[in-house]
Amino acid sequence: MPPKIVDGATIWLTGLSGSGKSTIAQELERQLVASGRRAVRLDGDELRRGMNQDLGFDAAGRQEAVRRAGEAALLQAGTGAVAIVSMISPYKSGRDLVRQRHGASNLRFIEVFVDCPLAIAEKRDPKGLYRKARAGLLKGMTGIDDPYEAPQAPEVRLDTSTHSVPQCVDLICIHLRSQEQIM
Ligand code: ADP
Repeated sequence: MPPKIVDGATIWLTGLSGSGKSTIAQELERQLVASGRRAVRLDGDELRRGMNQDLGFDAAGRQEAVRRAGEAALLQAGTGAVAIVSMISPYKSGRDLVRQRHGASNLRFIEVFVDCPLAIAEKRDPKGLYRKARAGLLKGMTGIDDPYEAPQAPEVRLDTSTHSVPQCVDLICIHLRSQEQIM
């Protein structure tokens, strides 16, 4: 029997540093690949080491980083893969532009708000960035002295302070299954 034909899509995880985007993206990728789906993960920190290494963390640099990740995801989704992007992507306008670009190609863009109170993200501090920011050693830290514009109508909202990683991945998969031709 030929394989079931399914469409490409981009799953875009946005949220504060330490909210859980990368952790959830990795587990989601693992589960999608295990189920036979082609999935490609684009992580904001990893992109900063290569494709986005010329960009700063000012508003223009952040917007351009998001735009490039969006274009890379779009290319992947266009081949039928599920692109999973994990990036703070603090500005609504930048995320909306990526959404529009997907819409213009008839590809689905699923915005996942990885929500977590700042106090909890700061307590986790997996990269030690909040500690540095509080000590005045790091300027322009999202949530501390740089803005984060929370999505108002994301396709999925996850509260990682009350839901475990497996529960969060399940919630994304439930949404994907509700979308025809993705899973
Ligand atoms: P981000 O990519 O958003 O900066 P990370 O995924 O790198 O965040 O780090 C989140 C940290 O929080 C990890 O150490 C992870 O194990 C922990 N964590 C605890 N609970 C959760 C949860 N429900 N979802 C995601 N991460 C969680």
